[in-house]
Amino acid sequence: MAEMVKDVVCGMDVDPESAPAQTEHEGKTYYFCAPGCKTDFDGNPQKYLSPDYVPDAMGEEQPAKRWWEFWK
Ligand SMILES: [Zn+2]
Repeated sequence: MAEMVKDVVCGMDVDPESAPAQTEHEGKTYYFCAPGCKTDFDGNPQKYLSPDYVPDAMGEEQPAKRWWEFWK
């Protein structure tokens, strides 16, 4: 089994041998689970490589606002 790499956009594990999309950034190759993730990465690589970026787990929706947040 090939070594899995992380899709830095969504956090999924991707098999480099069958990754649907890949891109090069500063001499490194990044693999993505879908062309859409590559597009997002190409649009703003710094965002996704930042240690502060937390992958949007499996395309989960934004958490619904709690009722008390409407009062701010
Ligand atoms: Zn992805």
